[in-house]
Amino acid sequence: MWTKKEQLYEGKAKKIWSVEESDDLVIQEFKNDATAFNGEKRGSWANKGTVNTTVASTLFRYLESRGVETHFIEQLSDNEMLIKKLTIVPLEVIVRNRSAGSFCKRYGATEGIIFAEPTFEFSYKRDDLGDPLINNSHAIALSLATAEEIATIQQSALLVNELLQTFFIDRGIILVDFKLEFGKHHGTILLGDEISPDTCRFWDAKTGAKLDKDLFRFDLGDVESAYATMLQKVVG
Ligand code: UDP
Repeated sequence: MWTKKEQLYEGKAKKIWSVEESDDLVIQEFKNDATAFNGEKRGSWANKGTVNTTVASTLFRYLESRGVETHFIEQLSDNEMLIKKLTIVPLEVIVRNRSAGSFCKRYGATEGIIFAEPTFEFSYKRDDLGDPLINNSHAIALSLATAEEIATIQQSALLVNELLQTFFIDRGIILVDFKLEFGKHHGTILLGDEISPDTCRFWDAKTGAKLDKDLFRFDLGDVESAYATMLQKVVG
């Protein structure tokens, strides 16, 4: 049994709680709320928290079993997971296999270009600045991470991409792009946060249908049923 002690943080889609039993671990609780465009658009739908908790837990277990070090300990309930407490590196780590979203906007590219090699980029996690794109030397200059930590993060993110692409294509899903966050736990860099339809773009490999948060961002269709589909594909 893990007992929630005190709410340490409340974000747009999650809360973090300390636990009575350990100073080293925290509970990550997933809400049904969603925001997009840096908080300008708000919404919520049934079972979103459950889908994201269960999808992320399943993916963290899969990645751990293949050698990726993560913060995940165990799924505690429909909308809670026990994780190692991290000091988050304030970088959003984005890997892309096909063009979409801000890549298309920034470069005037059409959606769906298949890249010969995955792309890799960082955004500086700063809501007040709109999470601007940042390069390695600027991240080091701002002491957001060391050169060694950046190398570890990049290597881990590209391995995660390889593993997740395999996982999803076996389930009829194209992994278009995704965002990861990393943090430090007793000096070790671990994969943190979540991996879910909130943080990835998923397209049905047969129909091309979108099965992720883009449905909410751009009012493209039934986001609740798309999330339910992703849960069913992942836990199968
Ligand atoms: N992403 C995210 N949180 C963010 C920004 C992006 O989880 O604050 C995810 C997004 O869901 C997509 C990938 O990162 O899977 C790449 O997003 P992009 O840079 O294209 O930005 P967006 O179009 O979401 O603004």
